[in-house]
Amino acid sequence: MSASTFVTLKGDRTEVPDTFLSAFRDRMRGQVIGPGGEGYDAYRTLWNTMIDRRPACIARCCGAADVIAAVNFAREFDLMCSVRGGGHNVAGKAVADDTLMIDLSPMQDIRVDPSRGRARVGAGCLWSAVDAESQAFGLATTGGTVSHTGVAGLTLGGGIGWLASMHGITCDNLLSVDLVTAAGEYLHVDENEHSDLFWALRGGGGNFGVATSFEFRLHPVGPMIYAGLLAWPMSSARDVLRAYRDFVAQAPEELTVFAGFISSPDGDPLLALIPGWFGAIAEGESMLAPLRKLQPVLDVVQEIPYIAQQQIFDEAAGPGIPRYWKSGYVTDLSDDLIDVLIAQNEKRPTPQSPQLLFRMHGQMTAIPTGATAFPQRRTGWDYDVIAQWTEPHQAEPCIAWARETWDAVSPHTDGVYINHLDHDDEGRIPSAFGPNYDRLVQVKRTYDGDNFFRLNNNIPPD
Ligand SMILES: Cc1cc2nc3c(=O)[nH]c(=O)nc-3n(C[C@H](O)[C@H](O)[C@H](O)COP(=O)(O)OP(=O)(O)OC[C@H]3O[C@@H](n4cnc5c(N)ncnc54)[C@H](O)[C@@H]3O)c2cc1C
Repeated sequence: MSASTFVTLKGDRTEVPDTFLSAFRDRMRGQVIGPGGEGYDAYRTLWNTMIDRRPACIARCCGAADVIAAVNFAREFDLMCSVRGGGHNVAGKAVADDTLMIDLSPMQDIRVDPSRGRARVGAGCLWSAVDAESQAFGLATTGGTVSHTGVAGLTLGGGIGWLASMHGITCDNLLSVDLVTAAGEYLHVDENEHSDLFWALRGGGGNFGVATSFEFRLHPVGPMIYAGLLAWPMSSARDVLRAYRDFVAQAPEELTVFAGFISSPDGDPLLALIPGWFGAIAEGESMLAPLRKLQPVLDVVQEIPYIAQQQIFDEAAGPGIPRYWKSGYVTDLSDDLIDVLIAQNEKRPTPQSPQLLFRMHGQMTAIPTGATAFPQRRTGWDYDVIAQWTEPHQAEPCIAWARETWDAVSPHTDGVYINHLDHDDEGRIPSAFGPNYDRLVQVKRTYDGDNFFRLNNNIPPD
C-alpha cells in the first residue's frame, strides 16, 4: 500500500500510512493487495465496467480463516467492507472506494457426493464450475442462465434458472451455508441450526454475513436435453409473443421457454424464444411443435448437452463492457405490454441492448411466499431491459433508453428481483422483499445490529 492510500474510517476519508495493513497481511493466508499492488486492477474489475471503484485494499481470501481475519480487521478499525463472489452484480456492490474488499474468488473448492445427491461449493465459484463437477455424475442444481455468474451472490438473492420450474430456484435447493458473521463468528447454518438466519439467507442477499460455502441438493439432469433457440423477424414479433404467452400458460414444469428481443450477428433485430425441455428427449419435438408452426426464420433447437444450454447466453453476456439495467416482475404479458416492448425495441440504441423475459412457473411458484426470504412465487416473468454499449459517447443515449423503457414498462410490473437492481435502485429494495421485509429486518437486528455489512442491497436494522 502506498503512503497516499485513503480508507474510510468511522465514516471519514482518512489518509493512512504504509504500515496500516502490515499486521493484517500477517494474519492472512491469502494476499492483501493495495493500490498499485500486483493484480489490484484485475481484482477490482467487475463484469459491468461502468463500475470503476478503487478499494483501499483487497483481501484475497483462501478459506474461512482468512474471511474471519478480514472481518475482524475491518471491525477493529471501523473500516467498511464489501464482499465479492463472482463480481457479476450489475450495480457493482462487490467493490467500493476506499474500503476493504473481501474477495472470495480464490475459494473454488467443489465436492460432489453423488450417492447423497449433494454438492458443497466454495463461495468463489462460478456456475460453470458447479455444472462441470455435477454433470460428471449426471447431476445438477438450479443455477444461473449465464455460466460465468458467481454462485454466492446469485444464491443469496434467490437464483432463477432453467431448472427452477422442475426443482425450485437456487436457494430452494440450498441445504446449508457456512458463514462468518459481523462478530467474526463462524456458523454452520441450516434448517435446524440458526434456522431464522437460514430463512434470511435464501433470498435476503449479502446482509447477514460472509458465506464461505454452500451445500446444494442435486438432481438427475441430462446430460443431453432438447433445447436451443428459435427466432423471428420483428414483423412477426406481436403474433409470436401473443402465441408464446398462451403456449407457456399450458407448459408442463419440464418445459421452460424464455423470450427476448435480441440481434442477429449482423445487428438486425430478432424476437427469440429460448426453450429448454427437460423431459424425455424423444418428446421434445412434439412439445415444441406449436412454436415451430409459427415459422421461425432461425431454428437451432436440438438435442444438446445441458452444459451447452447453461452457456447459451455466455458470449452475448460476456464481461468487459459497460451496462445499465432496469428490471421488474411481470405477471400478465398483456397485448398492451407486448406493444410497449416492441415499440421500445425499435428505439434500442445499440444492437447488443436486449429486453428479456425469464419465465417463472412450476415448482418455484409452488412454494409459499414466506417459506424463504425470496418472496416472488407467482407465475409470470422476470423482465429485464439491459442497455449495453462499447463507446463512451453511447453511454448517455443507452442509459436514457433503458430509463425510458422502464418508465413505459414499469406500470405493467409488480415487485423486483433483488439481484437485478442497479446502483440507482436503492429505493426499490423493500419492494424486492415485499411481505418478507419486516422479518428480514428482525434477522438483520439479531445477526448484524450495527449494519456492519451495508455495502450491499441493504436492509438496515432500524
Ligand atoms: C450476465 C448476468 C447474468 C445473470 N443471470 C442470472 C440468472 O440467470 N439468474 C439469476 O438469478 N440471476 C442472474 N444474474 C444476477 C445475479 O444473480 C447477480 O448479479 C448476483 O449478484 C451475481 O452474484 P456474484 O457472486 O457474481 O455477485 P458479486 O458482484 O460478486 O456480489 C454481489 C453481492 O452479493 C453479495 N455477496 C456475494 N458473495 C457473497 C458471499 N460469499 N457472502 C455474502 N454476500 C455475498 C454481496 O452483497 C455482493 O455485493 C445475472 C447477472 C449477470 C450480470
